[in-house]
Amino acid sequence: MTSPPADRVVLVTGGSRGIGRAICTALASPGTTVYFNYHNHTEAAETTAAAIRQAGGKAFYDSVDVASPDAVTAYIQHILKEAGRIDVLVNNAGVTRDGLLVRMKDADWDAVMDTNLKGAFNCMRAVGKAMMKQRYGRIVNITSVVGVSGNAGQANYAAAKAGIIGLTKAVAQELASRNITVNAVAPGYILTDMTQDLGDAAKTALIDQIPLGRIGTPEDVAGVVAFLVSPAGDYMTGQVIHVSGGMYM
Ligand code: NDP
Repeated sequence: MTSPPADRVVLVTGGSRGIGRAICTALASPGTTVYFNYHNHTEAAETTAAAIRQAGGKAFYDSVDVASPDAVTAYIQHILKEAGRIDVLVNNAGVTRDGLLVRMKDADWDAVMDTNLKGAFNCMRAVGKAMMKQRYGRIVNITSVVGVSGNAGQANYAAAKAGIIGLTKAVAQELASRNITVNAVAPGYILTDMTQDLGDAAKTALIDQIPLGRIGTPEDVAGVVAFLVSPAGDYMTGQVIHVSGGMYM
């Protein structure tokens, strides 16, 4: 048996907005318990919780900084105590602090590495033992097309997202024998708060690079995550799935 129980327990990081909210909603269904964390935006988290409940799932949310190993460990211990298991982990929380290399401040490098890359490490390390004991787990790490292609002005972000790909493949190899799959999803240009400040000229230039000719939606990404953690994805691990309208091939 490789599939989870019908009453599966899901944890999504950065679920209050954007892609994380769409993932929480896509994974919610009657019987599913969706835990998600966020950092600052409590009102947005309440909106996500309402969407989960609307889809029939149970919703629990907390403000937990994924960059803090202690906070993540305590949070995941709390979920395991309350729910008894974690079947699905989606490492989605992320930030950008864009700037050219020669002007990049240490704080901008550190914030992006600590949230995007170390955050995913913190969460996987904290759930790893429980998933190994369960002999079941589905982990999806949200990377980015720029983790593969690079992007001027995003040395910190591209490095963190490239790191997530290596991390995904290493952990996939470590955990495969316990029926735990670990995959990465690499979105291209998705319309969320993270990208909304791009000027019209930059948006048009980006769309010109997308063979499918449109900006992606959070739901475009969430559908692929839902597939990877469904029984249809049971035989996939260590993969990087691009959801970018063909922006990178
Ligand atoms: P948003 O900025 O819309 O949302 C980011 C989410 O991460 C929020 O829920 C935010 O919480 C949470 N978050 C940020 N920092 C922390 C932290 N330290 N601890 C816990 N939670 C935190 O981003 P997107 O939805 O656009 O991006 C989601 C993921 O997809 C990110 O990993 C991003 O890098 C990746 N991605 C996005 C692309 C895009 O085009 N949008 C393209 C490729 C990848 P709060 O609301 O409290 O701030």
